[in-house]
Amino acid sequence: ARQFTRPLNDLANQFNTLLSAVAGAERVFEILDLDEETIDEAAAVTLSNVCGEIEFRNVSFSYEEDSQTIRDVSFSASQGEMIALVGPTGAGKSTIINLISRFYDAESGSIWIDGQEIKKVTRESLRKAMAFVLQDSYLFEGTIRENIRFGRLDASDEAVIEAAKTANAHSFIMKLPNQYDTILKQDGGGISQGQKQLLSIARAVLADPVILILDEATSSIDTITELQIQEALGRLMKGRTSFVVAHRLNTIRRADQILVLSEGRIIERGKHEELLARKGFYYELSGQQ
Ligand code: ADP
Repeated sequence: ARQFTRPLNDLANQFNTLLSAVAGAERVFEILDLDEETIDEAAAVTLSNVCGEIEFRNVSFSYEEDSQTIRDVSFSASQGEMIALVGPTGAGKSTIINLISRFYDAESGSIWIDGQEIKKVTRESLRKAMAFVLQDSYLFEGTIRENIRFGRLDASDEAVIEAAKTANAHSFIMKLPNQYDTILKQDGGGISQGQKQLLSIARAVLADPVILILDEATSSIDTITELQIQEALGRLMKGRTSFVVAHRLNTIRRADQILVLSEGRIIERGKHEELLARKGFYYELSGQQ
């Protein structure tokens, strides 16, 4: 699960390179859009007033011809729901995220956002409705303030601090010698893995998206920071449709729907207790944790 997905990783690397070369950075996806697998249809519509309802109808997808990665996946996420994607490595969790964010298009079946087929929506308006909190936080060389402000470039200093407070990042930032002016090395060297995640959450808070995409960290993080992350994520997810590639029981337990994937199919779905009671695949999976 360390491999979030090649497109996101490659593009984020490109983005880091670009960012150090270009003054006045544009929003991440405008830059990322340089290298996309999918292009807008001529008659693509611009999404507005997004509610964040997402539906998959019999979606199948393959990266390569002879192996199907996603097989006949159907589910629907209502506005504000938290959907946890769980399952073994290679089951297709990240691929579902790739399809929701349209790094790839479904091969058959269809994906809908607010009753609109996403193939027919401009990627720019789709991505504006989304924010990502990924395992690798993609911090760039610059101050902590700039790194958080990247979530919304016109945010005031006060808004940056508010976001950091919501994300439980403010107190550690204030303990650094240069506080919000602390310069992070590329990849955020100098602060801990958990602190990087808090900054990434602060960035997403500032972006204030309708839809959240989260790839939960698998690396071990000290207990206190872990609690801070969980609490901050709880605040961030509230009222937003969230898709979480989940590795932590704490996160999975509070999901509105858990989709259990194996070999590209949803083999079980439900809430934590329901799935445990079924004593099936999920029960076995959670026993291993
Ligand atoms: P998970 O997130 O559940 O670990 P993934 O969605 O990353 O699973 O991967 C599902 C399958 O698709 C795996 O067999 C993986 O090797 C393959 N895969 C993932 N990304 C790519 C890609 N960019 N090109 C080709 N195959 C890929």
